[in-house]
Amino acid sequence: MDRSRPARLTSPEHSPVDRTHPARRHTVRIVQRRTPSRAAMLSLVLAMSAAAVAFAAWRWWQPAPIDLVYQRTINDVELNWKCEAGHYFTASGQVADRPCAMCDQPAFPITFYECTQHGTTEVAVRFEAGPDGVPRRSQFRLKGSWFPATDPVPCPHCNVPMVRKPTDPLDAISRGKKKKSG
Ligand SMILES: [Zn+2]
Ligand SMILES: [Zn+2]
Repeated sequence: MDRSRPARLTSPEHSPVDRTHPARRHTVRIVQRRTPSRAAMLSLVLAMSAAAVAFAAWRWWQPAPIDLVYQRTINDVELNWKCEAGHYFTASGQVADRPCAMCDQPAFPITFYECTQHGTTEVAVRFEAGPDGVPRRSQFRLKGSWFPATDPVPCPHCNVPMVRKPTDPLDAISRGKKKKSG
């Protein structure tokens, strides 16, 4: 055991260059770490304040969230479409009729109206661009005939005006998948 110690001591003597270099590297590394840390802190503070300014500018520039939801047009929303042959698919809304991807027949967005007694009825919708350029519902189709969207939507069974069923887009997509598989 005692003999091994001098052996260890001799080994650094044989290679003094190797030992000093890592030590120098270490000190250099420590110095490098200390100096940029202050700069890093400064840049971090600068970045945070810049982000805060950017966020404030964004908040100032953005309209109120309620306005955003209200101003969303059909072009931004995935709608349920159904063609004349009965194919269901989802695509973004548009004013013009959309040809079916499967059979090329005209397809229309569909929505659902609900009668308290007779349940849900599928209603086809046509859109038209208003004077402000925003698309809005212009016509509904029930039992094969189109009528103005301003008219009440009568239940095909009892003629009582129905209420539009609020549909979750995800709910509608799962419904479309069920129809495709079944
Ligand atoms: Zn089709
Ligand atoms: Zn009814």
